[in-house]
Amino acid sequence: MPFDHSWNEASPNGDFWSKKLPLLPERAIGPRLHLPLIMTDLEKNEILDWIRGEHAAGRALNIHAVKRRRPDLLGRVYEARPFWGWWQAIADAGLDYADLKVELEETVTCRICGYVGFQLNAHLSRRHGTTSAEYRKTYPGAEIASEMRRARMKKEGGNHLLPHWEPLYSDEYMMDRAYRYYTMGHRLRTTWICEHDHNLWQHIHRQGITWESFITSLGIPYPDAKTERAPGITREQTLEGLRELVKQEGETPKVTRLTRLNHLLYTGVRRYFDSYDDALVAAGVPLPDRPVPPPRQQPQRHGRTR
Ligand SMILES: [Zn+2]
Repeated sequence: MPFDHSWNEASPNGDFWSKKLPLLPERAIGPRLHLPLIMTDLEKNEILDWIRGEHAAGRALNIHAVKRRRPDLLGRVYEARPFWGWWQAIADAGLDYADLKVELEETVTCRICGYVGFQLNAHLSRRHGTTSAEYRKTYPGAEIASEMRRARMKKEGGNHLLPHWEPLYSDEYMMDRAYRYYTMGHRLRTTWICEHDHNLWQHIHRQGITWESFITSLGIPYPDAKTERAPGITREQTLEGLRELVKQEGETPKVTRLTRLNHLLYTGVRRYFDSYDDALVAAGVPLPDRPVPPPRQQPQRHGRTR
């Protein structure tokens, strides 16, 4: 397979990275379908060489700085599948993220008139009679505050299992974080991420993207609800529990009473047996007394006598 050099050329979609990186796969790869998703070792090594060269030359390698210099290269790092990402690329280059030079822009430029400032809120309302929300609608992904400002405002608090390694949030950084949680062995259900890195979930949610579609676009399977709720009880413990319960109760409880007495046991019954009766038989305990079913109305049949 010939090596695809297109990542080395100027990005065909200059506008692509100036917008927010679309997170969904069909949106992310839509305009760049000519590029392969699979990355060859050769391409990977070229990227690693570039990273080492930049670092040796004392140039900044935080995500925002690289996005300014080589949006095409960063794009390749994030669209490759299996997922690679900048965090892993830095590690593969043999560098320590903490040693990277960081460069943040001190100012932000108004997309309407080219005004340069630290923050555009006041400028937008005074000069253009518009709000930051309206401005963002017209210029998707445009920032209101400079990178430096935003880095200072970034909430360090909150719950996040992994400490931060980038000075600013970005879609790319969020992908790296999600993927690291995954490779650490966590199962990334929505409830889990809300509990362990709420800002990460919020960053995705705010863009109207579901958490499930976000992680599956990175090649992370969304954990199956059934296995997630696996009961903390084995088949043997279920049987043992049933015997114990019958002893305590002095009789076999009906299934409705079982759910009240010991719900975990009930979960075990449902998980390992086709029916409650099957579980009782397997446990070697008598079936509960059941009300005698009402006598069936025998249809009158003529010509059949006793
Ligand atoms: Zn302006």
